Amino acid sequence: MYVATLPFFPLVKQVYDIQKVKPTEQIMMQLYPEIYSCIGCNACSKACPQSLKTMQYIAYAQRGEYEKCAEESFDCVMCGICSSRCPAGISHPQVAILARRLYGKYIAPETKHLLDRVAEINNGEHAESVNAIMNTPVEEQKRLYNTREIEK
Ligand code: SF4
Ligand code: SF4
Repeated sequence: MYVATLPFFPLVKQVYDIQKVKPTEQIMMQLYPEIYSCIGCNACSKACPQSLKTMQYIAYAQRGEYEKCAEESFDCVMCGICSSRCPAGISHPQVAILARRLYGKYIAPETKHLLDRVAEINNGEHAESVNAIMNTPVEEQKRLYNTREIEK
């Protein structure tokens, strides 16, 4: 018997421009049509080390329910173990990341404080602080990051 690590499981990874694709049901049919061959065996969910309901998030993707797919797959670490078990050859983590991108770009409501902060950055209001961080040694940057104030 040989025991070896599998560095990654080969997945179907489609290339698309998120500025051009839209959150329609057709986009999954176009990019990941194999999801419609799911036979409901649930081997993907049983294999997931994150205990995700993988079969369920694929069902949401089939129906174009991207918000639910994004929510259900949020803790996916893209290990690909589910795909290694799937008789339908589905690349679950790639389907899920497309759903999360569609949700983030087109469906999730915009956050006013984030829009304000991006506008401030574009106006150069934080240039001095950004330059100060850029000129700080890496070790000091790590210390600042690890001791940062985290919003409760
Ligand atoms: S790729 Fe994501 S959904 Fe699949 S087994 Fe890994 S963590 Fe679970
Ligand atoms: S392993 Fe593949 S065929 Fe089986 S339920 Fe999961 S996605 Fe469907």
